[in-house]
Amino acid sequence: MKIAILSRGPKLYSTRRLVEAAELRGHEVQVIDVLRCYMNINSVNPEIHYKGEVLEGFDAVIPRIGASVTFYGTAVLRQFEMMNVFPLNESVAITRSRDKLRSLQLLSRKGVGLPVTGFAHSPDDVDDLLKTVGGAPVVIKLLEGTQGVGVVLADTHSAATSVIQAFNGLKANILVQEFIKEAGGADIRAFVVGGKVIAAMKRQGKEGEFRSNLHQGGSAHLVKITAAERATAVNAAKIMGLNVCGVDLLRSNHGPVVMEVNSSPGLEGIEGATGKDIAGMIIEFLEKNALKQRRNRGRTKGQG
Ligand code: ADP
Repeated sequence: MKIAILSRGPKLYSTRRLVEAAELRGHEVQVIDVLRCYMNINSVNPEIHYKGEVLEGFDAVIPRIGASVTFYGTAVLRQFEMMNVFPLNESVAITRSRDKLRSLQLLSRKGVGLPVTGFAHSPDDVDDLLKTVGGAPVVIKLLEGTQGVGVVLADTHSAATSVIQAFNGLKANILVQEFIKEAGGADIRAFVVGGKVIAAMKRQGKEGEFRSNLHQGGSAHLVKITAAERATAVNAAKIMGLNVCGVDLLRSNHGPVVMEVNSSPGLEGIEGATGKDIAGMIIEFLEKNALKQRRNRGRTKGQG
């Protein structure tokens, strides 16, 4: 196959591993910086140009689109889709997953376990907002935050009120969530490929830290997850429409709850913690599915 990897960082661990795994299996790979692509949108022959050349002949595309380039990155991915190139994750599913609030709304509609969550922009009645999520302690999150930045634990009602007022001043969208104390500063990352959890790790925050993010000094270990956790992760991936994703779960005393579904999950932490060849499994998924799409297309064409 000829595979495109949409990534701005050819030196990043995940990108390098995907290139390596694809080449090992005899595929041709090109790493493409989405911001350097320009496109020709027409109904007869949609094209993508890159550094003066037309990109053509690809069978599959692996999007590794950073949060800051979601808009343009998903537009380039959509252009590949117009050209009938099989996407590891579809552009519409990536866009959906990048919106934390929309994701939680979709998951809750299908009955997936979630932390009790309130959402606000400029609440006039902070007391009532706090009451809706069961009162302090609560976790307050900036909707646009990543890697644990902008995630605050407010132990008391007055601390929560101050933080919410401060975020209001910044005119930011926020989530206010019940604090899952029993998670003990740990979360579970379940890595889903093609409707199956293929690996899982537990991330533990450093001593005295409720956030388990590796960027906040947390550490990752192999973990055996329960049947309920497995089912929750698979279900969340399906609802989001993602073939490949990292589902972040907390172990609450009312069962597994989903915090987030990540459509470009990093490979370094999970391969390191589990010793598994995750990149290889992703390429294997593409081999099965991109070729199936091509066969189906051939059949449709044949039928006229
Ligand atoms: P980010 O997307 O920035 O990583 P998260 O929402 O994943 O932000 O929160 C960062 C970390 O904080 C999580 O990995 C988890 O360990 C902890 N955390 C987040 N929400 C809660 C919560 N409601 N209860 C307990 N711990 C939480």
